[in-house]
Amino acid sequence: MPNHTTIDKKKIREAVRLLLEGIGEDPDRDGLRDTPDRVARMYEEIFGQGEEDPHVALSKKFDEHHHEVVLVKGITFFSMCEHHLMPFFGMAHIAYIPNGHIVGISKLARVVESFARRPQVQERMTSQIADIINQELKADGVAVVCEAVHTCMTMRGVKQPSASVITSAMRGAFEKNVTSRTEIMALIYGKSTA
Ligand code: ZN
Repeated sequence: MPNHTTIDKKKIREAVRLLLEGIGEDPDRDGLRDTPDRVARMYEEIFGQGEEDPHVALSKKFDEHHHEVVLVKGITFFSMCEHHLMPFFGMAHIAYIPNGHIVGISKLARVVESFARRPQVQERMTSQIADIINQELKADGVAVVCEAVHTCMTMRGVKQPSASVITSAMRGAFEKNVTSRTEIMALIYGKSTA
């Protein structure tokens, strides 16, 4: 459940000023003078309430007697690692097996955006996306796979610029049935199962 609170830009400005002092900078020098305010406005954009609540987005359902897999591949997302406040970004792939209802494909992108707009860990984000689709659509199965590059891992720490992290969350048929799971992974990664 999104618990977006109001963004307090004054607090962010104060914190960024302190942070600059903490790393030995003069926050009043020319290039940095407007940085606290710029960062505050940027955080409002990154962490602020998205255009649409994910529950509302998924509530606009269409009755459709389609019982085969619907897969949306390559939804780009940008999020912020809650351990380092560094960006992680990549793609989310979402599949579901409808049980009488489908949703607009753009709504699935909204759901991803909504869960990315907060301090996150990729594992939890992946589960949250799967759970809300499962709850709202009462689908026969939901599969969510996210792959991302974590800048806290590429530019600091272990410095592994080509490492990516893949997480998956399987619900319903995809969780219970190995064949369904294998098929959906093959569809996501482009291998033919024929
Ligand atoms: Zn991190």
